[in-house]
Amino acid sequence: MEVSIVVPIYNERDNVEALYSALKSALQSMGCSYEIIMVDDGSFDGSYTVLSRLAAEDTCLKVIRFRRNFGQTAAMSAGFDNAKGDIIIPMDGDLQNDPADIPRLMEKIHEGYDVVSGWRRDRKDTFVTRKIPSMLANTLISRLTGVHLHDYGCTLKAYRREILDGINLYGEMHRFVPALASQFGAKVTELPVNHFPRLHGVSKYGISRTLRVVLDLMTVKFLMAYSTKPIQLFGKWGVYTILAGAGTGAMTLYMKLFEHFSMNRNPLLILTAFLLFMGVQFIVLGLLGELNARTYFESQGKPIYVVKDRINLG
Ligand code: UDP
Ligand code: MG
Repeated sequence: MEVSIVVPIYNERDNVEALYSALKSALQSMGCSYEIIMVDDGSFDGSYTVLSRLAAEDTCLKVIRFRRNFGQTAAMSAGFDNAKGDIIIPMDGDLQNDPADIPRLMEKIHEGYDVVSGWRRDRKDTFVTRKIPSMLANTLISRLTGVHLHDYGCTLKAYRREILDGINLYGEMHRFVPALASQFGAKVTELPVNHFPRLHGVSKYGISRTLRVVLDLMTVKFLMAYSTKPIQLFGKWGVYTILAGAGTGAMTLYMKLFEHFSMNRNPLLILTAFLLFMGVQFIVLGLLGELNARTYFESQGKPIYVVKDRINLG
């Protein structure tokens, strides 16, 4: 199987059939072997009825139906887990992405890239609630992860399947896959893609998504930088706060001995206690993190490195 298309579907009744036809004609014109996996994320508008009718006539269309709404990331994850293709291409189920971009994405993969991220250069969404938060988020994500992309939020991307095998997604994390993948040494690039306004159905997100993305970004940054060495982050903060506490403590003593400033009326004493306490907490947190890291890697037999090739090693 050359390519698997993965589409999360949540109340997209009026889009499903048109999307299926557009995908079908794009894929058939390429002449490669393919499958389309549509994941119904607990729709209640009859999307599943349409999906099951289409799938009854075409075994290339595979459908997974969730028991309830688990979110777009979960739906995409389920698609990835079941995909058989060498190249996996997720896209939105609302016709905002263009199936005609698929051949260009695959070309890039064949050029040798592991991840090709769509870039909705001419994005057809509202300015204030979508484009501005997205611009800020993309700048922030690019700077923090070191993987510079214009459009992390675009669902239309292409992945070589080995890349996805090592990545588990939680929260709203599907957008961060390029950053997580590059941590494993994947070659990442981006490609401008078409984008259309939504014609049927409504968007499933509001402005509150921005906060969720920022919180997930913290997780991703932490995982990328410190998942194998948490003590180096928390230990560092711990040492800094203990040093600061020692400094304020010394100052309190100095003020008492040489300036006769009573200790119990000096707010620095409280600050000292607070800082020392916090420092110890940080270090203990780091040590607990180290224990967790061992459980995480060793219980799964996960190495802390990624090998590209082996020679004479069987
Ligand atoms: N989606 C989903 N589960 C959800 C929310 C959204 O499967 O809980 C799907 C939705 O059906 C669509 C895609 O994710 O195919 C993107 O959603 P939407 O178009 O609402 O996002 P926007 O384009 O407005 O960012
Ligand atoms: Mg959309």
